Amino acid sequence: MTSNRSAHAALILVDVQPDFMPGGALACHEGDAIVPGIDALLRARRFRHVVATQDWHPPGHVSFASRHPGRAAFERIDLYGQPQTLWPDHCVQGTAGAELHPGIDWSALDAVIRKGSDPAVDSYSGFRENHGPDGSRPSTGLAGWLRERGVDEVVVCGLARDVCVLWTAQDARELGFRASVLWDLSRPVTPTSDAATRAALLEQGIGIV
Ligand SMILES: [Zn+2]
Repeated sequence: MTSNRSAHAALILVDVQPDFMPGGALACHEGDAIVPGIDALLRARRFRHVVATQDWHPPGHVSFASRHPGRAAFERIDLYGQPQTLWPDHCVQGTAGAELHPGIDWSALDAVIRKGSDPAVDSYSGFRENHGPDGSRPSTGLAGWLRERGVDEVVVCGLARDVCVLWTAQDARELGFRASVLWDLSRPVTPTSDAATRAALLEQGIGIV
């Protein structure tokens, strides 16, 4: 990566939170393996703009299986005409599992986008919430925040590779940014998804680094 490229690229760290690590409420496969690498990347100050997303749900969030009687975690339901995976309760606002991971020096961070705060709508992407009751996907404001700083390229890593990292990179592309994913600094909920994730990224012109 050249310094020229970095000047206009932003690093987006997706949901690096204890609940997505082994032992957490919604553990990703080897999720904790990315913590030292992300910490080193931030300490190296390679990116002028660094944004973290933070999954941040109120208790009883619509994405929690516990909200849907008779349903189990990881089942899929129809929600507002779209598929919605039901998850274990995770990243509840104010809990330790929802914090930005304490094993990382976050001092290089410019902004935090908290997502999933609407009790009735999930939010995988850092750019836009999932489809709501009216069919729209409300913006989080991240695209405007980046554009006003002259950013035209984003580099995405974090958790989970097959869900929030993927959706964030796809939205970046759809919203006009060049995008790439740092594969080794991301982990999936389950590695059986990796081939499909890789194919989806490549199909949309998203780089895999
Ligand atoms: Zn969530």
